[in-house]
Amino acid sequence: MQIIRDPKELQKQCLKWRQEGLTIGLVPTMGFFHDGHLALMKRARPECDKLVVTLFVNPTQFGENEDLDKYPHDFEGDRAKAESQGTDILFAPAPDAMYHPDHATWIDVPELGQHLCGSARPGHFRGVCTVVTKLFMLTQPDLAVFGQKDWQQLAIIRRMVRDLDIPVKLIGHEIIREADGLAMSSRNAYLTEEERAAAPGIRQGLQKAADKVVSGERNPDAVKKFLKDEFSAAIPMSTVDYIEVVDPEAIVPVDEITVPVLVAVAVQVGKARLIDNLLIEV
Ligand code: AMP
Repeated sequence: MQIIRDPKELQKQCLKWRQEGLTIGLVPTMGFFHDGHLALMKRARPECDKLVVTLFVNPTQFGENEDLDKYPHDFEGDRAKAESQGTDILFAPAPDAMYHPDHATWIDVPELGQHLCGSARPGHFRGVCTVVTKLFMLTQPDLAVFGQKDWQQLAIIRRMVRDLDIPVKLIGHEIIREADGLAMSSRNAYLTEEERAAAPGIRQGLQKAADKVVSGERNPDAVKKFLKDEFSAAIPMSTVDYIEVVDPEAIVPVDEITVPVLVAVAVQVGKARLIDNLLIEV
């Protein structure tokens, strides 16, 4: 596995591979790998000749009071894990290698960013879209794998790829969870023992909410209220950032629940802002 830090070197290598007729798979990440990240690599590996994993804590997708400076990292651990999945290139640039001091070009899909993390984290998806576009331009991938844990991110990238005719096949991967149901996240490392013990309440609440919908609940406000109460009982140290019931593609709240529908939540548990979602299809 090659470690590349210089964007131009990455681009040169990927263009060479493309000229040789080789296909490229891309898995963009912010590192501190867990089994969720590894699942994306496993999904991509058999579908491409060359697998590029990127590890970049992208400053432009973090707000001023967010955890950019504290984001967990373990480069040697990540290197070994990426290599174990048959990665050909691990691209790990320094922030100033990705952005010129006078960087002035942004990609944004504001229509899909009005709710959920888009409204809770202003500018977040503009940073995501811009860096993902840059990674697409640097690697020219045939396919790219993203996790459904960041459902809104995937919906926005799908729309961007469609609208800009970017020639890449997008693959959405299901959420990988701990045995007790907590969605795997690099940010789970911030949880204290007590918070970690309570955090599976997020998934449990979502499942109970889905049961209500399957049993006939059609009122999104009732589902939201139910979840709020569930979270305050099961995770008393948490504060809800958002609980929304949205159209899974348009990412706008629904007035009345018809399937498919997405229940999406962001909950602050101690220092960790945890997101999770559940797609209800039947
Ligand atoms: P991150 O490093 O958190 O930016 O995540 C990099 C990629 O891994 C994104 O496409 C995420 O959606 C995906 N991902 C993160 N956690 C999980 C998980 N628990 N299950 C599936 N995909 C995940």
